[in-house]
Amino acid sequence: MVFVINKNGKPLMPCSPAKAKHLLRAVKAKCIKQIPYTIKLLWDCEENTQEVIAGMDTGSKTIGCAATTNSKVIYQSEIQIRQDISKKMEQRKMYRRNRRNRKTRYRKARWSNRTNSFRKDRLAPSLLSKVNAHLREKTSIESILPISKWIVELASFDIHKISNSNVIDYKNGNQKGFYNIKAYIIYRDNHQCQKCKSKKIKLHIHHIIFRSNGGTDSPENLITLCKACHDKVHAGEYNIKENASKTKHATEIGIIKSQLKKKFGDFVETFGYETKFKREQILKLSKTHYNDAIAICCENNELMDLNNIIYFKKHVAKGDYRQTSGNRSEKKIPTGKLFGLRKFDLIKTSKGVGFIKGKRSTGFFSIMDFEGNIINSSVNITKNCKRLIARNTTLIKRRAV
Ligand SMILES: [Zn+2]
Ligand SMILES: [Zn+2]
Repeated sequence: MVFVINKNGKPLMPCSPAKAKHLLRAVKAKCIKQIPYTIKLLWDCEENTQEVIAGMDTGSKTIGCAATTNSKVIYQSEIQIRQDISKKMEQRKMYRRNRRNRKTRYRKARWSNRTNSFRKDRLAPSLLSKVNAHLREKTSIESILPISKWIVELASFDIHKISNSNVIDYKNGNQKGFYNIKAYIIYRDNHQCQKCKSKKIKLHIHHIIFRSNGGTDSPENLITLCKACHDKVHAGEYNIKENASKTKHATEIGIIKSQLKKKFGDFVETFGYETKFKREQILKLSKTHYNDAIAICCENNELMDLNNIIYFKKHVAKGDYRQTSGNRSEKKIPTGKLFGLRKFDLIKTSKGVGFIKGKRSTGFFSIMDFEGNIINSSVNITKNCKRLIARNTTLIKRRAV
């Protein structure tokens, strides 16, 4: 599939590679993007677009996307979201603190002077980046395909409700809330007994601190066990320790979900269990994020004509930072060109195709693959080198399966 946009930059229906070749030869179009291959028409043509349905499988680590028209998959992608934001901010905080001690040692203690972090509806930077990753992919797809409808799968559990109803009043018979938590705990614990890791048996929900000892129904106090293991715990054969970190992932999803509801624009909401059913029972596809996205697009339980090309994307940091001369300045290290090339440019060299990882004024660069593994740490870019894609904060790879 070759993606097509018209003279004014509006996306049209994709065409076959043969047709694109023909148009390019006749100078009726020009290539504007290598991955995914996109051409721009240089003449006014009639536009007859069909209905294109796009689906998105949201997540806090990976996003899956697909676009279909007439039960035919025309685009599928998987996006890795940045996970390094909070780590980098911790690092920055540490550098700043050290610098203050080094350079302004007699500075008065200050506190509560970060109004930004008390702002209403403020999102933590790591979460903001995750929400924006979804919106970025949306924009990216809409720039090459005439999407008429979005279907988005937000997480299946209402984690917001779970974390806000820590204590359930059993006297008033609030069982409904507990069912929600129960379903969520089994999902969180991967439908597995957390002691012996067995599956496909009747699972129990155990209170780590017993209810009789004041244990609550909050997710941190609940764990999935099989009947055998559960009996042993109650017989006092071993103890289960609390593991609170597990809910972090799901809570993040909850925030991403509510943010997307606000910012995504028009979309039809779907749920995880529906996607799973369609993927397994109707389409019979394996569990991947892009396959989930195809199942999301599949509205009327129709069979899909699959596509073997998948675009893998990864978001990377915009630049490296350093302290430059000057008071408290934290400027970006210039990402300027060396031999006409910049960091993260995709280049073709005698030692292979890769993204630029490090530049040297000697003309010997280091290149890496999509995953960040070094392909060659000293490749001469002054000879036989061609830039395929210019620097971008989204690394992209096209793969056939
Ligand atoms: Zn129990
Ligand atoms: Zn067990």
